[in-house]
Amino acid sequence: MRITTLWVTMILITQGLFGAWAFGKNKTTLKKIEPMNWWIGMTNPNLQLMAYGSNIAKTDVKVLSSHIRLKQTIKVENPNYLFLDLVISDNAKPGIVPIQFMAGKKVIANCNFELKTRADNSKQREGFSSKDAIYLIMPDRFANGNPANDDRPGMLEKANRQAPYGRHGGDLKGISNHLDFIKAMGFTAIWLNPVQENNQPAASYHGYAITDYYHVDARLGTNNEFKQLVDQCQAKGIKMIMDMVFNHCGDHHWWMNDLPSHDWLNQFEEFTRSNYRLSTVSDPYASKEDLKKTIEGWFDNSMPDLNLQNPLLLNYLIQNSIWWIEHAGLQGIRMDTYPYPDKDGMATWAQRILTEYPNFNIVGESWISQASKLCYWQKDYPNKDGYNSHLPSLMDFPLMEALKEAFNEADAWDKGLNRLYDVLADDHLYPDPMNLVVFPENHDIGRLYFFLGNDLRKFKMAMAFIATIRGIPQLYYGSELLMDGNGFEGHANIREDFPGGWPADKINAFTPGGRTNDQNEAIDYITKLLTYRKESEVLHQGKLLHFIPEEEVYVYFRYLEDKAVMVILNNADASDKKIITIRFAEILQEYNHGKDIMTGKTIDDLSTIISPAKSATIIELTK
Ligand code: CA
Repeated sequence: MRITTLWVTMILITQGLFGAWAFGKNKTTLKKIEPMNWWIGMTNPNLQLMAYGSNIAKTDVKVLSSHIRLKQTIKVENPNYLFLDLVISDNAKPGIVPIQFMAGKKVIANCNFELKTRADNSKQREGFSSKDAIYLIMPDRFANGNPANDDRPGMLEKANRQAPYGRHGGDLKGISNHLDFIKAMGFTAIWLNPVQENNQPAASYHGYAITDYYHVDARLGTNNEFKQLVDQCQAKGIKMIMDMVFNHCGDHHWWMNDLPSHDWLNQFEEFTRSNYRLSTVSDPYASKEDLKKTIEGWFDNSMPDLNLQNPLLLNYLIQNSIWWIEHAGLQGIRMDTYPYPDKDGMATWAQRILTEYPNFNIVGESWISQASKLCYWQKDYPNKDGYNSHLPSLMDFPLMEALKEAFNEADAWDKGLNRLYDVLADDHLYPDPMNLVVFPENHDIGRLYFFLGNDLRKFKMAMAFIATIRGIPQLYYGSELLMDGNGFEGHANIREDFPGGWPADKINAFTPGGRTNDQNEAIDYITKLLTYRKESEVLHQGKLLHFIPEEEVYVYFRYLEDKAVMVILNNADASDKKIITIRFAEILQEYNHGKDIMTGKTIDDLSTIISPAKSATIIELTK
């Protein structure tokens, strides 16, 4: 977008003390148009531009193109905003479209709006799926590839690596420098915590208080650097999942000083916090009072709650997602706090994205620990209230909770490995359990290694489970280094800098020599698992068959018509176990041989299998 602003004054008071005031107040300007550009050939021919500038609503608009029709302009409470409803014809060509803002016959401002050509196969882009393994990165904390962007003019918070909640200088370049490290472990997708501008005065490093939806934070890089990173990822077979936040913005968002309308936000007489009780949305007995607080209460003092019932704001955010998909070439979106905004607005958003990109994928952060409440949020679940979220994928919080405890406990009716078994037994609730993201930790939860009491054997069992169970595995940077931060004592503990990501670091854990023996063992184990998983159709698509845990041993199979993988989780601490397999005959009778995929050893007698104490055994079965 290029804007050339000619400003004029419309002096209403021509003399006296208020003259100068009136001169400034009434000038008409165009400061920005969003989205800054668009594409031809979209499924939806409609485009709504938000024009922002002093008194811009007082102008008349002309679009100088025979292929773009200005259907209407929409004024809101604040005259500094004007919304332009455009219709782009099928015959539109890429190029510049002049849009003129007029006062009478005079052009006040002109915007050279660009229509671009879409990338090849943009519509058919393949989203992340159960074929993938996701690596989550907090960009400020991973690697500082460009120390020159640590502090940028106009950015309120300066870099301070000593401050646990300060900005540490990590950036997109740092990620791009270490793509081979990520790829070598077998990951095929990256999810980044939000990269959009967070120009907040403090604690701006995590990305969840967005102050400009259309720009990458200057301390992480530029919009073009983000696109380049996505291109580099794609060249290495790595998909990019972008984190988005629609429930709230940062209180230093540029529109906060000059809101389009009072109802742009959910506003209260005094600060009102969400009760975070997400069950109110699906609970048939919930009071309106409680539900209103869940949905309209603010997530935090510095995070104003966006009102997605405002159709202009909803459309702004929907187009913003589409803009990033097209601009950067994304393969997925992770939506923050999915159940907190207006649920109909979110469903409309998901539907619009999937209409434009039918093979795309979206995972919602739906932090709900019971499948009975979580299933409400997956696309096509037959909710009694008729609600359909249109959200294809969910974060599997119930399984994450079970994983933190399962390997620490002896088996009992509802303890130990039975926790995993029971969570999976709830899969009848989900329309698509294969599209759940299975994760042991993320940026909000204590490190798995902390919960496992720094036991490498338990860690390996958890990794084996995540890599072989149904769904889409996701780890968090530092999982592979056995980071053991205690999330209960603050988020800084689970968002530590990756050692070696900064030029001055004494330890470089990106290389084997910079890691402890245990860390190398963990990385080797994850690499073997994910490398096997990458090529395993059975683990991507196979059905699940599992047997009730007995004597600290949980056995399950993933299987297709003529292929199967057997997984034995032996949580007993004492000694190796001889597993008599007659109990598994309903599937095992079809197979004669097996290969232990971690040791490479072949197994010619499947009637008894030796399972070492506190370990996972993964066997590829053959006829
Ligand atoms: Ca930097």
